[in-house]
Amino acid sequence: GTRALVIGAGLGGIAAAGYLAAAGFDVEVFEQAEGPGGKAGSEMIGPYRFDTGPSLLTMPFVFDEWFESLGMRRSEHLGFVPLAPITRYFFSDGSALQSYSQRELFLDEIRSHTRENPEHVHDYLEACRKIYATAGSIFLRNSLHEKETWLSREFLRALPGLPFIGAMTKMDSINRRYFTDPRLIQLFNRYATYNGSSPYKTPGTMTLIPHVEYNLGAFGVEGGIRAIPDSMYAAARVKGALFHFSSPVEKILTEGHRVRGIRVGGERIESSVVVSNADVLSTYEKLLTAPDSPEARRYRTLEPSSSGIIFYWGVKKSFPGLGLHNIFFSSDYPGEFRWIFEKGDLPEDLTIYINITSKLSTADAPGERENWFVLINAPADCGQDWQTITRKVRRRVLEKLSSRLGIEIPPLLEAEGILTPPEIESRTSSTHGSLYGIASNSISASFRRHRNRCRYPEGLYFCGGSAHPGGGMPLVVLSGIIAAKLAIKNRRP
Ligand code: FAD
Repeated sequence: GTRALVIGAGLGGIAAAGYLAAAGFDVEVFEQAEGPGGKAGSEMIGPYRFDTGPSLLTMPFVFDEWFESLGMRRSEHLGFVPLAPITRYFFSDGSALQSYSQRELFLDEIRSHTRENPEHVHDYLEACRKIYATAGSIFLRNSLHEKETWLSREFLRALPGLPFIGAMTKMDSINRRYFTDPRLIQLFNRYATYNGSSPYKTPGTMTLIPHVEYNLGAFGVEGGIRAIPDSMYAAARVKGALFHFSSPVEKILTEGHRVRGIRVGGERIESSVVVSNADVLSTYEKLLTAPDSPEARRYRTLEPSSSGIIFYWGVKKSFPGLGLHNIFFSSDYPGEFRWIFEKGDLPEDLTIYINITSKLSTADAPGERENWFVLINAPADCGQDWQTITRKVRRRVLEKLSSRLGIEIPPLLEAEGILTPPEIESRTSSTHGSLYGIASNSISASFRRHRNRCRYPEGLYFCGGSAHPGGGMPLVVLSGIIAAKLAIKNRRP
């Protein structure tokens, strides 16, 4: 078969590799780390196990489709568990609320815990469904940079609905239209952070994210998130993809307009197809020597998505009041996003996300203990003093949690790991440590992530969070499938 080389074994790279191998390509993957998964990593700290990156799974059908395209059944390799509740929300006024993707359960919760008319929530989630139905599959499943997409029957069918997908308004404005209880506005504004953006800037179209979580469901993964890269890696290998770890790619080789292969460990490996799962900017800046293309120049000007400061805490106590996913909201949400996206710093009062996988997989923490993954949204790295910032943030988080949970947390910590934006960058080559590639803080940024098939050099394809359709586990798997399909279509005899 034709040879295809994949740079990086993140979820996007594994997805592309498996798809291409199943289509008859001779696939080799080169990953700088010691194992597969990229941001979706796993780590032991003492007796506690942590998923180091993603924690919530949505759009499980994307994984079903990927395994199917390899001639396999997802359920035989990877188990998903629907969550009920999904997340426990703790508001700054002391009240709390649980979210559900089971509509009746959620509306009951709204009825008993808020001042909102549950019908508003119902109408809102149905409006989100419509946006997804109009825009979702076109934007998520196709390259936006191929004329076939714009000429497709699917696109023509969606055309009349496109003025109504909220592209010209902001997510926060749409949420204010539906809700009067400020807690629900805050709760649904939070979904902008799923792609590393601000709800006050990201277009209303992003309300398709709540549709995905509330109407299509949120899931836990048997064996932890790390079972996703592990099972996909195993499946891609069964199809014949070869993986090389501890193998940083040094250069993408070109000749004229075309890709010729890559250089790894000083060795030249020839191929007319190269798929980069590395961050788009780091591919341009570190791997390509060719002069800047207009695409590369445009990409450089885009705002990176937010990053995060993550504390991995082994806690020697169990908290029945906490669930698998927990959010402790700040009192000033607009202010928090201004700090992150405009000042490049963090506010005094922080929104805190805690994921406790030992609630689902007891083996992740010993006895009456819990593994807390604590994520604070943070600005992308632009040279801030992260040591000082992290020290301050750690103190504020511990103070807030101690006060909200009514017990001093610091004496309960018996294991700790910390991940900061510069470390995210150095581990996965994600430029500025951004979690989701570029931010969707404007219409053009939302709909113009980097193309999956490069014009220049030809033969280079992009998949992963910084390429279309964007970050998040299911989306990067879609990007791997789109990139693979384009490589198959453009295969040279
Ligand atoms: P990455 O995971 O970035 O992998 C790229 C790979 O390429 C890396 O392994 C890197 O080592 C390798 N590489 C780069 N350069 C080279 C080179 N020159 N040579 C060889 N290899 C190279 N998503 C969700 O769906 N739900 C969540 O709850 C969620 N939470 C998150 C929380 C955190 C803290 C983080 C960090 C991310 C989160 N995400 C979440 C996002 C999700 O993890 C990512 O979108 C997804 O895993 C990224 O996959 P990717 O294919 O873009 O590549």
